[in-house]
Amino acid sequence: MTDVMIQVENLTKDYGPTRAVDSVTFSVRKGEVLGFLGPNGAGKSTTMKMLTCFLAPTGGHARVAGFDVFDESLEVRKRIGYLPEDTPLYRDMTVSEFLTFTADVRGMTSERRESRIKDIGARCGLADVAGKLVGELSKGFRQRVGLAQAMVHDPDILILDEPTSGLDPNQIVEIRSLIKEVGKEKTVILSTHILPEVQATCSRILIISGGKLVADGTPDELRSREKGSRYRVVVESNGVGGDAVKAKLGGIAGVTRCESVTGEEGAHAFSIDAQVSDDLRKILFRAAVDNRWTLLELVRESANLEDVFRNLTTGEEPRS
Ligand code: ADP
Ligand code: MG
Repeated sequence: MTDVMIQVENLTKDYGPTRAVDSVTFSVRKGEVLGFLGPNGAGKSTTMKMLTCFLAPTGGHARVAGFDVFDESLEVRKRIGYLPEDTPLYRDMTVSEFLTFTADVRGMTSERRESRIKDIGARCGLADVAGKLVGELSKGFRQRVGLAQAMVHDPDILILDEPTSGLDPNQIVEIRSLIKEVGKEKTVILSTHILPEVQATCSRILIISGGKLVADGTPDELRSREKGSRYRVVVESNGVGGDAVKAKLGGIAGVTRCESVTGEEGAHAFSIDAQVSDDLRKILFRAAVDNRWTLLELVRESANLEDVFRNLTTGEEPRS
């Protein structure tokens, strides 16, 4: 029980009439890399700002390492490193000046500071640019500086708001592997609206939509929710047309969608969705036998996270 690092209960935030975060409840254990996934405007940044004491909640509670974000914000800030959405960096400081400045602000002693900055600079790949002005760095390097400032005081918890946004594919790969590396020792929450990001980086995923939490689980758990709903069927139909085959398959009880897809020459291929997670394979096999079709393929495809995400976040109204 002591390994719960973040405990959020019914956390709510209103901006005037807009409820940006709506009674969100979750907890994060030590060592987890938690992906906070949701479309733009879902409430990710607002939640992170409350966890990092930059915004007061309208309702509910959040505790970080046992401290309340509202009543004990000084204790919370000591334990948290935060990469905000738009990293405010001092562009006319050099990288090492900026990191020294950040370390001072966070109250680090000067002895500890030196070695720590060197260490964190090396880990974030900043050694070669230590003397350069922050404003002259590429976006990828500035993002590394943002990560380095979040980690300079060696916090137990890192909160990273869209850490790879605006980076090119190579930089994305680098930042992701850096986060994975950091996640071995720290508790990390990162937000993203990009699905492959959480798949590549996170041990657990929360999906937020319209300010509400709509899913919480490991990538496998979320996928298995949808499992068994889609089938791929390929038959040779003895001269019967593809449309007739499609009509028969589409008429099977439980089938919600049957579409022709590309298959091999001389055969008909279909993608079939079923409403329930019943196993339709026997029924599809039986349909082939009864109709004297030759079954070339019958596969139950497990859902991918994209389906899960789409199903859970559709109906999202664009909000002003
Ligand atoms: P996300 O980070 O998931 O894209 P945000 O937390 O930034 O979402 O925004 C959630 C909702 O709150 C959106 O509808 C957004 O327009 C609104 N919002 C965010 N910040 C403010 C603000 N400072 N004032 C008013 N509304 C805001
Ligand atoms: Mg955001």
